[in-house]
Amino acid sequence: MDASLEHLIRLQEVDVETAQLRQSIAALPRHLAAIEEKLRSQTLVVEQADKAVQAEEAKRRRFESDIKDQQQKIAKFRDQSGSVKTNEQFHALQHEITFAENEIRRIEDQELESMERTEQLESGRTRARQDLASHKAFVEREKEGARKQTAEQQARLDELNKSRAELRVEIDKELLADYDRIASSRGTGLARVQGQRCLGCQMFLRPQMWNQVREGQRMHCESCGRLLYFDPSFEPIPEPPIVEPSKRKKKIITEAPETEP
Ligand SMILES: [Zn+2]
Repeated sequence: MDASLEHLIRLQEVDVETAQLRQSIAALPRHLAAIEEKLRSQTLVVEQADKAVQAEEAKRRRFESDIKDQQQKIAKFRDQSGSVKTNEQFHALQHEITFAENEIRRIEDQELESMERTEQLESGRTRARQDLASHKAFVEREKEGARKQTAEQQARLDELNKSRAELRVEIDKELLADYDRIASSRGTGLARVQGQRCLGCQMFLRPQMWNQVREGQRMHCESCGRLLYFDPSFEPIPEPPIVEPSKRKKKIITEAPETEP
């Protein structure tokens, strides 16, 4: 393998890692934005739970004052019933008192229901507060991790850029231009061949091309256009003899009449 090709293989590794790193760097702000958004919505859930609990408490304060009103009415009717002149007046006041007493019982029932609702609302609020607190801690950890990760990734990116510049000057200009052209449209410009297959696109190579690539000739994949290279260190098992598809076909045809009676 010539030195230019060796440098080009290394260059592609550097380029691939650089592209992955850039993607990861770009994904981080999106991840942080998503978890911050969840934090905002959880804060809103807690705020709504607070409001619901407060609204129920306000309702009960109104019930209490309504009960007091009814109790005052009852006291007033009792006062009046001491000074009535007729049975009719007395019965009318008794009727008012019974009505007010029933009203108090009705309000007390509503008060009880409200207290049950408060209990449920408060346990929901407790859960919402716990969720918020744990997510808040998670966001803080993620932000701290992101700061560290960004610094590390930036340092690695600087290293890669340096390697890239160093490698490019070592590579034959024509080969480099070819690589750049293919890489700009395919993502990668170089593909290793193994088992008569282009590992860039997984297509099989014609036997002649497979031989040429293994001999070290610079060839392009007929399917994906990538520059092909062979690395014998990946092929520890000897390759099986290549069978030409056309010859195999002929053999079947010639054998066929013999099997017939
Ligand atoms: Zn290919």
